[in-house]
Amino acid sequence: MTAPFRVPTPPDLADRLGSPDALVRLDGVAKTYPARRGAAPVAALDGIDLSLRRGAVLGVIGRSGAGKSTLIRLVNGLERPSRGRVVVDGAEISSLPEAALRRERRGIGMIFQHFNLLSSRTAAENVAFPLEIAGAERAAIRARVDELLDLVGLTQQRDRYPAELSGGQKQRVGIARALATNPKVLLSDEATSALDPETTGAILDLLGRINRDLGLTILLITHEMSVIRAIAHEVAVLENGRIAESGDVFEVFTRPRAAITRSFLDRETGRALPPVLAAQLRPEGQGETNVLRITFRGPHATDPVLAQLAREGGVEACILSGTVDEIAGRPFGTLVVGVSAAPGVTARAQAFLAARQLGVEVLGSLPASAWPIPPSAPSSSGRPDVA
Ligand code: ADP
Ligand code: MG
Repeated sequence: MTAPFRVPTPPDLADRLGSPDALVRLDGVAKTYPARRGAAPVAALDGIDLSLRRGAVLGVIGRSGAGKSTLIRLVNGLERPSRGRVVVDGAEISSLPEAALRRERRGIGMIFQHFNLLSSRTAAENVAFPLEIAGAERAAIRARVDELLDLVGLTQQRDRYPAELSGGQKQRVGIARALATNPKVLLSDEATSALDPETTGAILDLLGRINRDLGLTILLITHEMSVIRAIAHEVAVLENGRIAESGDVFEVFTRPRAAITRSFLDRETGRALPPVLAAQLRPEGQGETNVLRITFRGPHATDPVLAQLAREGGVEACILSGTVDEIAGRPFGTLVVGVSAAPGVTARAQAFLAARQLGVEVLGSLPASAWPIPPSAPSSSGRPDVA
């Protein structure tokens, strides 16, 4: 099947038209694995609608067992959906006969958590492998392998065997091999999960560069928010085989709607309280100090908001935790503060912050005894009184 002719569509228009320029599309996809040895069938995915724009990086995040690997295996046709359609560049992967599917797969590169290199072949021979399968000529293979090893920075290691390479170097071989046949899309199944943080950063930089410089479309799945933040443009949050929410990475991570998205954020960006205070957090109204989470997006990320809140809003707040982060290249700050639970104070702070386009939510309240920090204006009882 050949791809239909397409008129290039600007990204914003594509969004409004339901992404006609999607390179990969899943429509109403479900996947149920049949019952095995007395066990019940497993509904791994259900009701998945997803589209991946040409040239974009889409990250799918979910916990173990959410259905991520199943999703990616449906895209390269290693699994067939129980219901729905999977379309890659106009070809309906989900219903192609085996021979046609093998041809389409050359246009779909894949990298893996454990690299899946052939241990009896050198780095260069691993990269050459898909070209040999495709029947390319020796001279053409040699030239392409040189080019790819240069791209991933492994020219010096070309004759080493996988056992003689570091994890990061092995993944670079994996990436070069995946790119050998000039795929339209690169699929990545937890490609950095076996690597240390520094090597992870280097591999993500490489994938980001490949996306930008070669315009390669990437679908990556991960359980780590930091991976999505580093290179994805769009994100889909997968939970129990369904998409809990999806959209632009900055939008989703700075205004999360689903509880699962919040829990990823809480774990990985320091939005939550330090554990010693979190353990004592109780519902609002049951403590002397209300705990507010303020989020700063884009241009407001560096505003001196606490000084303004005190001076103009008349509310003193103490800092409990805070971070300034970068999501999809845009600054995003989070500040968790305590204000007095005295009547009206929290509402005044909320109104003041909301009027400045800052996100604000009350996480709960803390008892006075939670407070190891000397208050700025001690009351006569010695109790903290941060307002
Ligand atoms: P993830 O990659 O997010 O950890 P998977 O797609 O691997 O999730 O698995 C989703 C669910 O489907 C899990 O409950 C898993 O046990 C089940 N599953 C995955 N592969 C198979 C299979 N080949 N046969 C039966 N069940 C499977
Ligand atoms: Mg998996």
